[in-house]
Amino acid sequence: MINQTDIYKIRDGIDVYLIGEEILQIYFMNTRKQIQFKANKFTVLLIECIDGKKSILDIKKKLEERIEKIIDIDAIKQVLLLLVQKGIIVENKQNVHSSYISDESKERYDRQINFFGDFLPGVVRKYEAQREIENSCILIFGCGAVGGWIATELAMCGVRNFILFDGDVVEKSDITRHIYYKEEFAGIPKLDALEASLAKINPKINITKYYQYLTPETLITNVIDKADFIINTADEPYIGHTSLKISRECISQKKAHYIAGGFDAHLASTGELIIPGLTPCVDCYADYFKEALKDWKPSPHPVKERHLEIGGLSSMSLLSASYAVIEIIKYIAGLTDFTNYSKSRGEFLFDTLDINYLDVKRDENCKTCGEIVYEKA
Ligand SMILES: [Zn+2]
Repeated sequence: MINQTDIYKIRDGIDVYLIGEEILQIYFMNTRKQIQFKANKFTVLLIECIDGKKSILDIKKKLEERIEKIIDIDAIKQVLLLLVQKGIIVENKQNVHSSYISDESKERYDRQINFFGDFLPGVVRKYEAQREIENSCILIFGCGAVGGWIATELAMCGVRNFILFDGDVVEKSDITRHIYYKEEFAGIPKLDALEASLAKINPKINITKYYQYLTPETLITNVIDKADFIINTADEPYIGHTSLKISRECISQKKAHYIAGGFDAHLASTGELIIPGLTPCVDCYADYFKEALKDWKPSPHPVKERHLEIGGLSSMSLLSASYAVIEIIKYIAGLTDFTNYSKSRGEFLFDTLDINYLDVKRDENCKTCGEIVYEKA
């Protein structure tokens, strides 16, 4: 329903081009989608008036001045309705945010909320997305190079509730990889250092800290139960084992989780978003590798304790972490329809900048996730 006092604006992420006299080309900057339609002079002039300030009545007056004849307001409403349906214009309502987020949040996250608005229909969904982020509770196992940066980016996006799990202390060598590293943090628990760093981004952040390593004996059912979304970057004793333990528990609680990637000096892994009943789970990945590597017989490496020498570059781990946060934010804020989601783990190569994605499919007979039915978040 369009009223004559309503005010509309062309979406922030849209450019309009006129090709010749009567072809309008609409360019969606966020997706690179383009649509064209034939438009008469009236429609072209009308679109030029949709500035986020003029009401429909104001536009009618303006158009009548320019065309020098009386215009039926229903003709204007008809064009506006079509532009709304195509996602080209949106109503410009004042204070609509106040039912969803505070004025402080609106000011603080304005640019991000506008970005969300490029992917969501209508005027309120972008504020709902921000509210989802602020209300979510994120559990992160492992707060090193990748986990620390994931926490930092999520805090920058507005996440206020964290449960963090790490038993390590900050070392001088962490400066090459940890974004939250500060000289004065050397020797203190990583969780305390990260907490101090996150508090500088947003003093309203609440953190529950578990100063411990994840082991096969660690009880994680209750802690996963308290979280809305779970991330694993714990690579000790071995990320394959921690991921299996966490993913199986998350699947049984039907909670989406992210097995974050990292780097092993040679490439950066993007990791994988796991949505119960929709994407492959960690057991599906394990079965994939078992099959893919079935003819490979391990030969003992002559160099002992290779893991102590493993290389790293901060930009590679930050790339993995940022990739993870893009996926996590899309999920928790509902920015994408995940029904047809098909991305699996990717591997970023340092020398060529290529990302090669594995072709892992969900195994419908998987003992962990096979019987789980996807439920939209
Ligand atoms: Zn599975």
